[in-house]
Amino acid sequence: MKIYLDNAATTKTDLEVAAAILPYMTEHFGNPSSVHQFGKKAKVLLEETRETVAGYLLCKPKEIFFTSCGTESNNTAIKGIACKFIDTKKNHIITSLVEHPSVLETVDYLKNQFGFKVTHVNPDKYGRISLESVEEAVRPETFLISIMHSHNELGTINDIKNISAIAEQHGLYFHSDTVQSIGKTEINLKGLNVNAASVSAHKIYGPKGIGILYKNENTVLEKFIHGGGQERDMRGGTENIPYIAGLKKVFELLIDKGEDDKKKYSELKKYFISEMKNLYGDKIHFNSPVENCLANIVNIRFDNSLKFDEEMLIIKFDLLGIAVSGGSACHSGALKPSSALLKIGYSEKEAMSSVRISFGRFNEKKEIDYFCEKVKEIITF
Ligand code: PLP
Repeated sequence: MKIYLDNAATTKTDLEVAAAILPYMTEHFGNPSSVHQFGKKAKVLLEETRETVAGYLLCKPKEIFFTSCGTESNNTAIKGIACKFIDTKKNHIITSLVEHPSVLETVDYLKNQFGFKVTHVNPDKYGRISLESVEEAVRPETFLISIMHSHNELGTINDIKNISAIAEQHGLYFHSDTVQSIGKTEINLKGLNVNAASVSAHKIYGPKGIGILYKNENTVLEKFIHGGGQERDMRGGTENIPYIAGLKKVFELLIDKGEDDKKKYSELKKYFISEMKNLYGDKIHFNSPVENCLANIVNIRFDNSLKFDEEMLIIKFDLLGIAVSGGSACHSGALKPSSALLKIGYSEKEAMSSVRISFGRFNEKKEIDYFCEKVKEIITF
């Protein structure tokens, strides 16, 4: 048996999405910048996709830009805003300690290369960023706040609406990494009042290598891929039309089945939690919060009084055919503890005893039964 419970890392591409991609490689292979009918066909698809995406995210089509991934979108948003403040008195960025590396390393780069100052706001024990901590971090030199919508390891959802209100009150730019939230919880980009937000297709049953940057129509970003003026001169390079066709299908499916998906995630998560509690009682801890958490993610920790090899935990699950995640691989291939959990305050041992389970559209209840049963083969209770 092979069970995939790592949907926050990536998802299987939906067959309908895969089917939507192929014709734009083999039949409608035109370049959208060409004036002939092959080009026009691609151009129509490009603009239709922008409309579909904007319809789902509740923003304007002209606010949607196609990128190669969530990482590129985060880089473009943060660097694109920061570029305007190089060598000015406004030189301070606020982010959190537990952002995705595509945000953390981008602000590190800006700090090391251009001398920007960065405040990393501390999260609470669930990885949540409080309004007070953001407010306290604001200085006269601040120009940007970047806080993720939901945490990729814990599922914790931040109060982005009120964090963006702080940014607005102080006249600051606000960016949010919404990669894990799209399709998992309600997102209304207009309502969130963000200058920029990032989306990745492979977390929502699309292919790897295509993402979205949402940029509010009143926000001007410095571009950093110069070229043929594509994407309204924001990102040079011939657009990835086949994957954009896939992305259109991704959002059509979210519009059609998104509510069913969310219901399924919630049911699976509820069932998982109750089965684990029934079987293992207080020997299982839940690192994820009960409230304001994504329906598809639950992060658990095995009590350190139990007998198990925490360094081998994820590998042992893998040997049983169960794909889950915890920590990250280091250069030697060995697992090291999740840096987010360490920053939140867990010890190395606790972090290594933690596992993220993330559900997806294709999971079934019987897979949860299998997981819950197999735990006994790895851990002596
Ligand atoms: N932001 C978050 C919160 C993520 O979880 C990820 C992917 O794991 C990314 C950004 C990066 O997305 P991509 O893999 O498309 O670069």
